[in-house]
Amino acid sequence: VPGVSAVRVAMTAEKKARRLIAVGSGKGGVGKSTVSANLAVALKRLGAKVGLIDADIYGPSQARLMATEGMRPEAEGQKMIPVPTSFGVPMLSMAHLVKPGQAIAWRGPMAGNALGQLVDAHWGEVDTLIVDLPPGTGDIQLSLIQKHKPKGAIIVSTPQDLALIDATRAIDLFNQSTVPIIGLVENMAGYECPHCHAISDPFGAGGGEAAAAAMGLPFLGRIPLEIAIRKASDAGTPPAAGGEAHAQPFLDIAGHLLG
Ligand code: ADP
Repeated sequence: VPGVSAVRVAMTAEKKARRLIAVGSGKGGVGKSTVSANLAVALKRLGAKVGLIDADIYGPSQARLMATEGMRPEAEGQKMIPVPTSFGVPMLSMAHLVKPGQAIAWRGPMAGNALGQLVDAHWGEVDTLIVDLPPGTGDIQLSLIQKHKPKGAIIVSTPQDLALIDATRAIDLFNQSTVPIIGLVENMAGYECPHCHAISDPFGAGGGEAAAAAMGLPFLGRIPLEIAIRKASDAGTPPAAGGEAHAQPFLDIAGHLLG
């Protein structure tokens, strides 16, 4: 029956292997969302077919970072259609599943179902999904690992976070599962004074690379602490989409992933 085979072809296309890359951190505020958004944009710039999932139920911030605040995904059948962004990276956020401004206080199973809706959306030709996880090691992380089997995980930390071994808990979670850790990104590493250009290290220097080496994990790169990164992020213009100076650290990490 032609109708049935057409449906089957459509389903196969929708089911094609789509790799999920989880981005996690030991605690909040280390720049996990910033790295996720910019990594997605950088991957797109390098030619990947990439989408972005904001699974951070405690503080979904991708709509602001990607300038899609107020946009609501449409649905086709039972599935959501990801929201397009100006950067060629379609996205869906936990924030899209609730009314704007509403607190998200889901229990484990509900949060797991919500995550499922984001992953099983109409992603079309997207073959790589960057998943911005909540900080720490909770229900969303377990649900992602068990049900959606990510291809790998990236851990974002500040040098300070590593020193305080918060990041190692996140690393441990993936190590206990079969999800390989792709590597560590050190964020807010080194601050160049915009006036005298002296480099200072508010959170200590070189900790990320040393910690990655000690744990036998690949080191994917460091991103400096820069006012420009914060400003561009708040303005919904990811630095990875802009000029070379600010895009380069993210392009380097993306290159690592594709390489
Ligand atoms: P998380 O997702 O880990 O909670 P965010 O990505 O939301 O962290 O970042 C927390 C704050 O720090 C945001 O205001 C963000 O703009 C800022 N930020 C993140 N990385 C940098 C950086 N490398 N330089 C300057 N500001 C940064």
